Amino acid sequence: MGLILIPGPGLNPKYLLYGDLNAIISGYVDHRGNEVQSISESEVREVLQRFKKEGISNLAVVGKFSIRNPGQELQIARLAGKEFKVTTGHSLSGSLNFPRRVVTTCFNAGTAPIHQQFIQVIKDAFTQRGIRSPVLFLKSDGGTIPVDESLVQPEEISRQIEKTVARLQQIWQERDDVDLEQVFGNIQKYYRREKNIFYDTDGINEEQTERVRYCSDCPGYLLIDSRASRSRFNDTRIFAVSIPRLTCNRCHSEARNIFEEQTHPRRNKYDYIYLQDLKEDEYLRR
Ligand SMILES: [Zn+2]
Repeated sequence: MGLILIPGPGLNPKYLLYGDLNAIISGYVDHRGNEVQSISESEVREVLQRFKKEGISNLAVVGKFSIRNPGQELQIARLAGKEFKVTTGHSLSGSLNFPRRVVTTCFNAGTAPIHQQFIQVIKDAFTQRGIRSPVLFLKSDGGTIPVDESLVQPEEISRQIEKTVARLQQIWQERDDVDLEQVFGNIQKYYRREKNIFYDTDGINEEQTERVRYCSDCPGYLLIDSRASRSRFNDTRIFAVSIPRLTCNRCHSEARNIFEEQTHPRRNKYDYIYLQDLKEDEYLRR
């Protein structure tokens, strides 16, 4: 299995060389998903040629911030074409942990030949016995997929990830031009939404009301009022106040006051009241 790493500046990548052959190439996507330095196609082609000469057919491709922008990984996958079976890092994990993603991708690319062989044996066994029904894999999440699809990540998924990431980047870049009132309606003090969640494994029904304090100086704070019940006669109510790190001082004291008011014995209608104060790094339960 061959590994192509796009680590960018920072971390020394020499501890991450898990491939039988490894290549560290230029190119860099920053933590916000902006492409700071594009990859060099000729460099990638040289690596691919070297790998091919050494008999490598399975490829792991991992960029440090590929989960924020998978473009470079996909570009390399396109260059590798049909001569390699390619596993890209962003397709396996949405987590920022680069070393772990490198290991997972290498593991996937390394086990791919065993999986391919396994599927071939199954197919041959079916053919020999004259069985022509479709063959499906039962996945660990209970779903099924046709065996051939289990060999590759469907292109639509990669395309969908690419599209979603591009859209999120656009939203982030336009964040200052957005008229919040137009998006959320006339919100006055709080933006409010109701959620009804049914946990089918436990038979619990939760009704949740979230309110976000609208503030022009800061991200506000979040109030959650939740009622969870297994039946009409047995329910638990919780109230939670969540204060983000960048909350302004006014909103911060307002949120702390709400927490204190709710915990007042005479007013308390909740079974649990929580405070998550990231600004003060304080977590309370009453
Ligand atoms: Zn504020």
